[in-house]
Amino acid sequence: MQENATQALPPLEVIVARSAGTCFGVEAAIELAETHRKPILGPIVHNPQIVNDLAQKGIPILERYQELDNLIHDGVKEVVITAHGYPKELKEALVEKGIQFHDATCPVLLKWVYRKIRTFEDQGFHIILIGNPNHAEIIASRSYGGNIHVVYSKEEVDRLPAGLEKTIAICQTTITKEKFEKIVKYIRDTKYPNMRAVDTRCKPVKNQQEAVEDLAQWVDAILIVGGFNSSNTTNLANLAKKYLPEKTYHIDSPDLLQAEWLQGIRHLGIGAGTSTPKSQIDDVQQRVAELYQGEVHFRKEGNDGEILDGDFTPDDEF
Ligand code: SF4
Repeated sequence: MQENATQALPPLEVIVARSAGTCFGVEAAIELAETHRKPILGPIVHNPQIVNDLAQKGIPILERYQELDNLIHDGVKEVVITAHGYPKELKEALVEKGIQFHDATCPVLLKWVYRKIRTFEDQGFHIILIGNPNHAEIIASRSYGGNIHVVYSKEEVDRLPAGLEKTIAICQTTITKEKFEKIVKYIRDTKYPNMRAVDTRCKPVKNQQEAVEDLAQWVDAILIVGGFNSSNTTNLANLAKKYLPEKTYHIDSPDLLQAEWLQGIRHLGIGAGTSTPKSQIDDVQQRVAELYQGEVHFRKEGNDGEILDGDFTPDDEF
């Protein structure tokens, strides 16, 4: 009886979003941490699995903004700075205290965002940085300008000074396009009508956001895999929820996947943030195959959004 019931379930098609998983910035940061094996000032990236893997390899994860005298007291002479960047004055303090740092700050920030900040300020712009003021990336980025205004809500926009001439908005690399545009509009409507805006989201984030948005529009349910403290992963989940408010599931471990989420689903999407390792995506696919009482076909999306021919088992190279 049970066997017949199992065979009656139609096949489940699982489609992994194009560009899902770690970006070059995250991969370089992990490699740097593993190469130097020195204490890291904060989680190297916002993914618990990666952080735990490094900790298990004996690499200490310290508090991000701790007193440098404590480091000296503990005999720490070298540290690693995370992919999110580190405030300019704190880098200078490390040098002053004789603590060498290995910098895993993403090149997108070092070579693009910070450079834009300097260039715009040299051109006489007041910079409005749209992003979470408590996020490590924003805390670092704002330190590379003279007087950057950070806003992430209408209330923060309302508190901006009136009458600033020559303003320009840039944004956190992981923010959604929708949120960026919404805040830019609100600032133009209420504060600076002529403000210019430059979308400084990084390419991997843009690609992933587009891919998840495309996928969420036609699959029956979607899993977004990655750390709950990862802003780009959380933003992917929020994007997917626009189309699948009841069928978007943000998980940071395959153990969280529930069999009932697969009931009545024929097409299941999987998206993953820029800090989600491929192994974690594979583990989630494996868990789907274990939980679903029927055939499961794994497919991947091509760069143009087309579903590529052929089935892919969870062990295939993506
Ligand atoms: S998400 Fe973008 S900014 Fe962040 S590490 Fe990856 S490439 Fe760099």
